[in-house]
Amino acid sequence: MKPLSVEVYPVYICSSCNSRHCESMDYINKVGKILCGCGNVMKLDGIETFKITPIYKTPTPKKDSPPSQRAQHTDDESDDTYSLAALKEKTTQETQQKQTELPANEFEQSVSLLMRLGWKKRESEHKTRVLYEQWYQENEQLIGPENFDEFANYLFFNHSN
Ligand SMILES: [Zn+2]
Repeated sequence: MKPLSVEVYPVYICSSCNSRHCESMDYINKVGKILCGCGNVMKLDGIETFKITPIYKTPTPKKDSPPSQRAQHTDDESDDTYSLAALKEKTTQETQQKQTELPANEFEQSVSLLMRLGWKKRESEHKTRVLYEQWYQENEQLIGPENFDEFANYLFFNHSN
């Protein structure tokens, strides 16, 4: 689920001693000043609100991590977490690259095909990515305008799985 709101705590740095002060919005608007440990009094401007927009991560399907690399994970796990993280990142990059291998035009056609079959836009986009991944693993064949029919057919028979 997505958050309803976000809590923000403005941070002030004392101009005399560089101490860091983190205060609640309530405090800032009610008290309006901070007495620093060094004796400096800081006057705070009232704050109406902050405009913060979340940027969500794109979800990556779990099954995309190949079994061979998973086995390797368990071997390496105890001694080298750094390379594990690197390996994970590499896998993610490969996955993203593979997903974009379906050209934009064909991707859109697939999405609209699935929407005509009754899926919502978001579902259709997700299914297109997953099924393309699946298609690619089964056929090791890229899809372009010349063979899009084959993939459309594949979508048609596999979309409800
Ligand atoms: Zn200070």
